[in-house]
Amino acid sequence: MRVNETAITLDPPSNAVLRFIGEIRTPWAARADCPRQGRHDGPNCRIVLDPVWQAALKGLGDYDKIEVLYWLDRSRRDLTLQSPRGDGATIGTFALRSPVRPNPIGTALVRLLRIEGSTLIVRGLDCLDGTPLLDIKPDRCAFSPKTPPKPGVGQTA
Ligand code: SAM
Repeated sequence: MRVNETAITLDPPSNAVLRFIGEIRTPWAARADCPRQGRHDGPNCRIVLDPVWQAALKGLGDYDKIEVLYWLDRSRRDLTLQSPRGDGATIGTFALRSPVRPNPIGTALVRLLRIEGSTLIVRGLDCLDGTPLLDIKPDRCAFSPKTPPKPGVGQTA
């Protein structure tokens, strides 16, 4: 912990069961090397989905951007106040996108480059190699058009 950071005492978490559906392969083995937020011009990363879920990818290739949810498994989960800069100035956990949170879910809007079987090649991630995968979603509702309609086209009053 850093200066002025505050933790609380918690029972072991037990009331939600998530199913990991794959793992994320990235170039980063250590937190120090990992970007704090992914960039769409960052390195290619692989989302390796458990093949039993491959059919669930049907239609996803129509999207350029997808949202990925992952479990930041190497985080502590008990801080209420954090000092992101390590200078003693603190901010509440819920006002941060820090991996340190009660349920360490990370999200990233990534560029989908291609799908190879049950593996997705993407750019824009910021997680450690081997991070468990929770979910994948298109960046918008499946009923939204891929390209926004031109003004006045296809709109009804
Ligand atoms: N983009 C996500 C978000 O906004 O929800 C995560 C942002 S979080 C600031 C990214 C940082 O989490 C990385 O720089 C790294 O320090 C840390 N991190 C990445 N993968 C992790 C993992 N599997 N377990 C714990 N910490 C991780």
